[in-house]
Amino acid sequence: MASLIVAGGGIAGLAAAIGAARAGHEVLVLEQAPRFSELGAGIQIGPNGRRALEELRVWPWLRHHVVHPKAIRIRRAATGVELGRMPLDASFRKRFGGTYQVVHRADLLAALLAAAEEEPAITLKTTSRVTGYEDIPGGITALLQDGSGVSARGLIGADGIFSRVRAQLLGDHPPRFSGHVLYRALIPRAEVPLMVDTGNVNLWLAVHGHVVHYPVKGGACLNIVASINERWQSGMNWGENTDAASMKRVFAKACDELQSLLRAPRRWMRWAGADRAPVNTWGAGPLTLIGDAAHPTLPYLASGAVMALEDAVVLMRHLAQESSLAKAFRHYERERQPRTRRIVESSWKLARIYHAAGLMAAGRDAFIRLTSGPRSFERMAWLYDWRP
Ligand SMILES: Cc1cc2nc3c(=O)[nH]c(=O)nc-3n(C[C@H](O)[C@H](O)[C@H](O)COP(=O)(O)OP(=O)(O)OC[C@H]3O[C@@H](n4cnc5c(N)ncnc54)[C@H](O)[C@@H]3O)c2cc1C
Repeated sequence: MASLIVAGGGIAGLAAAIGAARAGHEVLVLEQAPRFSELGAGIQIGPNGRRALEELRVWPWLRHHVVHPKAIRIRRAATGVELGRMPLDASFRKRFGGTYQVVHRADLLAALLAAAEEEPAITLKTTSRVTGYEDIPGGITALLQDGSGVSARGLIGADGIFSRVRAQLLGDHPPRFSGHVLYRALIPRAEVPLMVDTGNVNLWLAVHGHVVHYPVKGGACLNIVASINERWQSGMNWGENTDAASMKRVFAKACDELQSLLRAPRRWMRWAGADRAPVNTWGAGPLTLIGDAAHPTLPYLASGAVMALEDAVVLMRHLAQESSLAKAFRHYERERQPRTRRIVESSWKLARIYHAAGLMAAGRDAFIRLTSGPRSFERMAWLYDWRP
């Protein structure tokens, strides 16, 4: 019997498995898909995320795949005018003791997978969908869709925003829809219009929508995410292909640079912008949750995956210090809940601020101008200063 089962082999599940194995546990990862894979999109990783990757000893697998943008530029969609910027240069590295990087999700997952495969205490199993669990004396049984079960001393639910483990634990409702729909595209560098800035993270603000774009794959591709105020209609499917017509309408009066960028992709995919209100229960006995299963968030602080990496580091430490799984899990939950709650709630508030109009937008823009340059560091310190 493995000492721990991890349900879900995404970023959180693989990071949790690596952390638990480093803490001395035998781990079995059960992933529902036929292979470990991530969709084509980007992830921003602040210095806190890099520290977590270093602590998990995954950074060496990833370092050659990241891009270090020069700055995060905040721009007005209508005119292209820069409202403010956060430099990501030597002054940023000095303040935070680490770099800011962007990466393709598949490269992050591949790095975690490579580190997990090298760890003899981890067994990876695909095509294994967990449908629930059952308490047994001295442990827990993960129930699988094919009717079988696998038992271990403990279970970590890392099965994402629609977590089955969480649903059984909390009797949860569907995720909370934000009123935003997210459109994502990835384009090869050769197809990026010449006028588009490809050296920075660009955040474009418009009334009823915003766009973020940055380079990934060592600069070979550009990742674009557009978020607009839109209803999630019942016929829309999570992660489906779309012509993105309603999104392009929101930016129809944007400046040439942004319009040319949004015209460039041949393929867009869309998601509902959704999270869950933070809760104080992530587990019971030898069961806990991690990543989006524990604290799904809107992506506006670019912190969902990074929170999962931080979770894994904290879990690793408590598992190493505490022989009782239940105690280690409760210590981990208590340590992680205040921080993840703040990130989820701040991301939810940012959703309103990014798409503001009128006086609220004017106040936002004045604040961005006032805190531009190195002054922006203190605004983000609570997020980036996290240390293992
Ligand atoms: C538009 C957008 C942009 C984002 N940008 C950033 C960013 O810049 N930085 C950042 O840090 N985060 C970002 N995020 C957030 C980040 O993508 C998520 O927080 C992160 O992927 C969560 O990882 P996870 O492993 O918890 O969940 P998931 O990625 O959902 O992985 C869950 C895994 O479990 C498997 N699974 C699901 N159910 C079962 C089951 N029943 N049994 C077995 N396996 C199961 C799935 O197949 C999957 O492999 C962004 C999100 C969005 C939508």
